[in-house]
Amino acid sequence: MDHSIYRNSKVTGRYFPYESLQHSLSDVEAYKIPSLQGLSVLGRQIPVYRFGSGTQKILIWSQMHGNESTTTKALLDAIQFLTSSHVQARALLANLQIVVIPMLNPDGASAYTRVNANGVDLNRDFIAFSEPESQFLKHVFETEAPDFCFNLHDQRTIFSVGETSMPATLSFLGPAADASRSITPSRLVSMQIIAAINQHLQDFIPDSIGRYDDTYNGNCVGDHFQSLGVPTLLFEAGHRATDYQREETRTWVFQAILVALESVKEQSYLKFSEVDYNIIPENQKNHLDLEVLHAHLINPKIKSNTRLAFQYEERLEDGEITFNPKIIDLEDSKKYFFHDQIDFSVQALADQAFVYQKISSILKTLHD
Ligand SMILES: [Zn+2]
Repeated sequence: MDHSIYRNSKVTGRYFPYESLQHSLSDVEAYKIPSLQGLSVLGRQIPVYRFGSGTQKILIWSQMHGNESTTTKALLDAIQFLTSSHVQARALLANLQIVVIPMLNPDGASAYTRVNANGVDLNRDFIAFSEPESQFLKHVFETEAPDFCFNLHDQRTIFSVGETSMPATLSFLGPAADASRSITPSRLVSMQIIAAINQHLQDFIPDSIGRYDDTYNGNCVGDHFQSLGVPTLLFEAGHRATDYQREETRTWVFQAILVALESVKEQSYLKFSEVDYNIIPENQKNHLDLEVLHAHLINPKIKSNTRLAFQYEERLEDGEITFNPKIIDLEDSKKYFFHDQIDFSVQALADQAFVYQKISSILKTLHD
């Protein structure tokens, strides 16, 4: 599928606030479900859309963590495709009913925070149900009674595909339904659909897909819905090369969503097994954003053999996300991989790049 044709041009970059949602979805207003509309803590609306009239029902939600916008961008692109005249889109909508909550945490999205306006992580609220947003997702789940659930997120840049040097551009999990992590029928289906996605995408992004730890946590939405017997898949959008805006990862999330929908429609996931799922390497945390070499050339107080590592902190400033380097303590015994490197023995001192300037000013404050 050629993603570029279906890219929603109203959305780009990392910051996707609630205020942009309505505008981005203005073409599909007619697909809104009027009887299903949530309200956030601060009174922002949480719209729900329905695409298709088939018998198999899939509930998809994104941005339950407000600063995780990549999957929302990909989901909007998938909506552009589904509502197009493409023959495959028509076939999907004839066979499936796709219920979409594009932004479950609009207050967090506007503030660029993981948590909602009460400071609660909605993905740890599925025992307490203290928050209106998690109560609303439960309400939609109970009203719509989906056959499958897709739970869409972004992950940090630290995640590696197993012990390899590859960052996890996409990660998945078929969450456990109980503390013993048994393979319940619904969990097996989640694993099979993930295996189908993995097999398809390995041709395009080889060795770039990881699998999350399956420790059971009943506070998490995926574990909760899985325990109720509905196959639930966690999708995580991650890092790739220099793609901090996650515009390339967006493409792979788009493809992953479409492969998952297609495999549900065709029931082609049935040919996959738990083994096919388990061959996906489990994520490790071996990646960092930036390695700095020869820092003593900037500040003689730094020993010449000191290895310096930085991780970016994302900050919302004037409607843009900035990436602010923060020094990280390294464990001696651990092997790290870096997305980027600054070597002061070769870098032109006049370099005006944002990161270079920030790093230089941090280094000047270091002793020893
Ligand atoms: Zn998340």
